[in-house]
Amino acid sequence: MSAVRTKPFDIDLVMGLLREAVRPYPPAAMFALYDEGYVTPFEQLVACIISIRTRDETMLVTARSLFEQARTPQKMSELSPAQIDTLINASSFHENKAQQIHDIARELTEAHDGELPCDEKLLLSFRGVGPKCANLVLGIACDEAFIGVDIHVHRVTNRWGYVSAARPEQTMLALMEKLPREYWVEINRLLVPFGKHICTGRRPRCSTCPLLEMCAQVGVEAPR
Ligand code: SF4
Repeated sequence: MSAVRTKPFDIDLVMGLLREAVRPYPPAAMFALYDEGYVTPFEQLVACIISIRTRDETMLVTARSLFEQARTPQKMSELSPAQIDTLINASSFHENKAQQIHDIARELTEAHDGELPCDEKLLLSFRGVGPKCANLVLGIACDEAFIGVDIHVHRVTNRWGYVSAARPEQTMLALMEKLPREYWVEINRLLVPFGKHICTGRRPRCSTCPLLEMCAQVGVEAPR
């Protein structure tokens, strides 16, 4: 299904409406950790790795308990993969993630003075780190213009008809073409709670959505 818009799509207006719409909901997990003081690229990367295929609520508890033991690459590399695994075992694929976090920490300690620099190429060189996590780290911790496209950003921007892309990586490229740079980091902060609570995967709440008049509702079959 694709609805006829009754108002032209205006991204500036949309961003303002989104800020209001998500105010009652918890922030996206990585932004929440940043607001709590977990601001380094390394902490943000570890949080993003833990978040893969894991609910935000679980990731937050898990990341906080890991950071109680180790917040720097040096401290993290002193933990064994088994110790990291025990601390993050509520997350999906924890064994694999524990090894991955340990390996990254060790490499940073041995070859990068114990710090993760704001370096896209280095981030993408780590096993299991893709554009989503790299861009979120660069956007949130490094304050650089990168777009973190997770499943929510992908689904919602395609439903708007703002982009038309089959996969998140394609959505990221399409957004880089047309989304004003000032919104590149903020769009993830807004669309994660918006996608979880309003423009949900199944039966989005279109009838009360503040964007309804501007949204093409592409592919929406059973709105509420
Ligand atoms: S909830 Fe419906 S109207 Fe609102 S953005 Fe999603 S698809 Fe569009």
